[in-house]
Amino acid sequence: MQTFAVFGNPVEHSISPRLHNKALQDLGLDALYTRVLLEDGSKLISKFRALKLDGANVTVPHKEYALKLADEASQIAMRSGSANTLVLKNDKILAYNTDAPGFMRAIVPFGKIKTALIIGAGGTAKALSHALKDNDTEVTVINRSKERLADFDKEFECYCWDDFKVKGYDLIVNSTSAGLRDDSLPAPIEILEPVIKQSNFAFDVIYNQSTAFLNLAQANNLTCKNGADMLLFQAVLALNLFYDSSLDEAKIEKSMREIFKL
Ligand code: NDP
Repeated sequence: MQTFAVFGNPVEHSISPRLHNKALQDLGLDALYTRVLLEDGSKLISKFRALKLDGANVTVPHKEYALKLADEASQIAMRSGSANTLVLKNDKILAYNTDAPGFMRAIVPFGKIKTALIIGAGGTAKALSHALKDNDTEVTVINRSKERLADFDKEFECYCWDDFKVKGYDLIVNSTSAGLRDDSLPAPIEILEPVIKQSNFAFDVIYNQSTAFLNLAQANNLTCKNGADMLLFQAVLALNLFYDSSLDEAKIEKSMREIFKL
């Protein structure tokens, strides 16, 4: 039997065990997926080995540790600066980032995106900005504070709220946690509303509720999506990586989608 887990802090609300166990069961795989509360991220790999895991997902706040401590990392993980998937192969632990390709798969229905505005400059923003850029999208980043933009300004057009120049984009993405616990917008409405009025699509990485950002975009007739498909696809891609890309992703997706319907 193979064993997988998700590491995080907090981790009790993670939907990953339900998604993965449903797919493992439906695909007839002899494996179990559990959750591990990890307070000290520097112990991630020693804990992975002590538990004799075959693979793991890593969530907030340990994704940077996952990249740093793994034996090897994929190009996407290195460019994203973080990893959410660890796979044991030939006694080495390999790190991947499936958030970025999960996001790219989630925005397929929007069609070709030529220009995008990423709101936020955290780990998720970094992964999504690079994924869009790799797909020939011209990416602009706007963030509340200047400090975190230092990670972006060599490769992307970057602004703080006060120096931003309003214009329209094919896609606007909220990659901050603004709106997760309250009805705050990820940027002042004086900036956001005129940009939204000139744009086409809106995406929010927050997946389990309708945020103030998406409500504003919807009220202005943009085509909107929340982060549920991104979450689903990162899990589909992670499970396939656990099995050396030998599984049928359409079958995994069908199975995991059942959990979102519950
Ligand atoms: P971080 O905490 O690293 O994001 C921080 C960024 O958000 C910073 O740029 C910060 O700005 C900005 N920010 C935070 N609060 C506000 C606010 N109230 N107003 C404006 N800006 C704000 O988070 P992550 O990048 O790790 O994750 C971001 C979100 O993405 C989370 O909600 C997470 O749940 C979600 N997520 C969803 C996934 C999915 O599959 N759907 C996958 C991964 C993440 P500043 O620099 O000024 O502090």
